[in-house]
Amino acid sequence: MNMNTDGLVIKENTTGENDRVITLLTRDYGIIRAFVRGAKSIKSRSVSATQLLGYSKLSLYKGKDAYIVDDAQPREIFFGLRGDIERLALAQYLCELAAELAPREAEAAEYLSLMLNSLHLLTEGKRPQPFLKAVAELRMMCLSGYMPDLVACSGCGAFGGDYMYFNIEDGSLICSGCAGREKGRPLGMGVITAMRHICYSEPKKIFSFTLSDESQKVLADICEAYLLMHIQKKFKTLDFYKQLRS
Ligand SMILES: [Zn+2]
Repeated sequence: MNMNTDGLVIKENTTGENDRVITLLTRDYGIIRAFVRGAKSIKSRSVSATQLLGYSKLSLYKGKDAYIVDDAQPREIFFGLRGDIERLALAQYLCELAAELAPREAEAAEYLSLMLNSLHLLTEGKRPQPFLKAVAELRMMCLSGYMPDLVACSGCGAFGGDYMYFNIEDGSLICSGCAGREKGRPLGMGVITAMRHICYSEPKKIFSFTLSDESQKVLADICEAYLLMHIQKKFKTLDFYKQLRS
């Protein structure tokens, strides 16, 4: 059976002398693993398209037990990321995150757009990395069913105040008036507004907001903590990225 879709290579492994297995985040089939036959049997333009971070128009063949890449026409290979180890490390972490959270063999258009937009912005280098990382983390959490409830205080329904407390365990907010002894993390309204924007805005506008440098640090910290609390997994690529940044 032949399938056409577009997808981003989020992982690659070599198997045997010439063959490679790649993990793809595709628009129509979510996460799939596919074989790329040796260099001789695949057109050369398909080779770069099937390397890590290659985004291409794919033609896949579904064999008995595996997918095989029949053709891959490159659309974007994010070449700019390869020259900067820190950016590349962050890109690889986002790939590992997508591999963990995106659905298998089911439509994943929004995950793919989020990844492509994140990689574009990361390549451009105009937005700070902690900002991009936080947006990608929190939005991906929302897409995969871990959306926090940031609408209002879970006690009295108030929308704001000078600050509110965020409970990373259940993803709820509580105002200072309602908070008991278990308060959670205090967040200023700038950070809460940013988190609301990331969770509730339409896909095209996710990255369209600004935040002070100080608040970006808090946002980055809280988004990562929320993700790690709920995913309960060690991301090697995240550890590596943090080592580079420290
Ligand atoms: Zn309240």
